Amino acid sequence: MPKTLEVVCTDDGCELDMFELHYTYDMPDSVGVTDFSCPYCGETAPLEEIEL
Ligand SMILES: [Zn+2]
Repeated sequence: MPKTLEVVCTDDGCELDMFELHYTYDMPDSVGVTDFSCPYCGETAPLEEIEL
């Protein structure tokens, strides 16, 4: 299975709790949570990867 990234948005003003990013096998290993932004508030800084 390709990697799945679970991300939480910690922005106090954002009503999104968490979301999942589903990669294909071609996603480079160098891509991480800092390469994405929250789909609700649009910020990158409050995003944190959840380690399962
Ligand atoms: Zn957010």
